Amino acid sequence: MTRKDRTEGIYSRREVLDGSERNQYSLIQLKELLSYAYRYSEDVKKRFDRAQFHVDKFKNLSDLKHIPILKKKELIFLQSMGPRLGGLLTKDLGELRRVFLSPGPIFDPEDRADDYWGWTEGFYACGFRSGDVAQITFNYHLAPAGLMFEEPLKNLGCAVIPAGPGNTNSQLDIMQKLRVTGYIGTPSYLLHLAQKAEEMGLNLRKDLFMEVAFVTGEKFSEKMRSQVEKKFDCIMRQGYGTADVGCIGYECFHKTGLHISNRAFVEICHPDTGIPLKDGEVGEIVVTAFNKTYPLIRLATGDLSYIDRAPCACGRFTPRLGTIVGRVDTTARIKGMFVYPHQVEQVMSTYEEIKRWQIVVTNPEGIDEMELYIEASNFKRQDELLHTFREKIKLRPELKILAPGSLPPQIRPIEDKRKWD
Ligand SMILES: [Zn+2]
Repeated sequence: MTRKDRTEGIYSRREVLDGSERNQYSLIQLKELLSYAYRYSEDVKKRFDRAQFHVDKFKNLSDLKHIPILKKKELIFLQSMGPRLGGLLTKDLGELRRVFLSPGPIFDPEDRADDYWGWTEGFYACGFRSGDVAQITFNYHLAPAGLMFEEPLKNLGCAVIPAGPGNTNSQLDIMQKLRVTGYIGTPSYLLHLAQKAEEMGLNLRKDLFMEVAFVTGEKFSEKMRSQVEKKFDCIMRQGYGTADVGCIGYECFHKTGLHISNRAFVEICHPDTGIPLKDGEVGEIVVTAFNKTYPLIRLATGDLSYIDRAPCACGRFTPRLGTIVGRVDTTARIKGMFVYPHQVEQVMSTYEEIKRWQIVVTNPEGIDEMELYIEASNFKRQDELLHTFREKIKLRPELKILAPGSLPPQIRPIEDKRKWD
């Protein structure tokens, strides 16, 4: 059987709008969204009034920063404030198609519009094509993922096996008997399936027919990706989104980061102030999906990333999110500076003598102190390490060298032991 070309092609004309056309498009969408939401969402009206934000003064994309960000955590409380999910919805619950429940607990409404979650272009970019037989291993029960990923597959002309999670043996049996070409699920479960299949004596390239995998929900390394791709002889690409807004970004064949979807306006902001940061700077992903039913304007996702506008070989002009570098809540602000685990890791990985590391933050007498523990035998480059650390992280820690194996097996990269009265 000849394989489909999964590397070329673009689903929607909007993916190739140039920078100024895109800004124009986003501006029109946002203007419409803001005035509609102000009119029909009680919560949006309250928020705008409190911030003294006037919809008719919204003239440029940069005016959006005058609306305070909406932290995802706040949704739990806001949704309990009355009918229409506390006034966050612009219509009654009975007019929707479905309502899901995610951990939080947070309700996730789904309207009846086509491609409501907006994943179709992303699935195409990841390599799904008409005629695929796709196995969805996400949960179909209460949480949105399972059903959310059905619609893009239907739109692209693929068949779906709503397998749900678990039952690895029957998952493999289905994959084999139905000659499944596509996988949708977490990357770790795909690797688990591969390992199980190998244990059962299957030849993944001959006995299974997997050509494309869409993964999301977890971080994975490039090493793991190439391992999975090699085992199955398939393409594995990831999407990024949330259960509140649906698709935010997706990878293309070229793996250059997450192309930002055209259905949303995405900013990278300072996690405390909500002020947009410059391209390339790491900050919180703040998303405004063009969704009039559930207008979560400037939703701060809690995920950290940065924006890359360099051209991509796929021909899409959309800006991209770099990788998701961490979560706001695992990031410590020490002496006023944000310290991100991935930045520390970048410094540490240049010293091969360092096996493991941990930062411990305390504040005796109200002043932040930072200790950097490293596991290394015979470490001689203290001064050099402290110098690099200070250059990259802008702080000088107290360095403590430990014998390998001294740190507990499970540690947080940044352990915040500060006490606040
Ligand atoms: Zn691309």
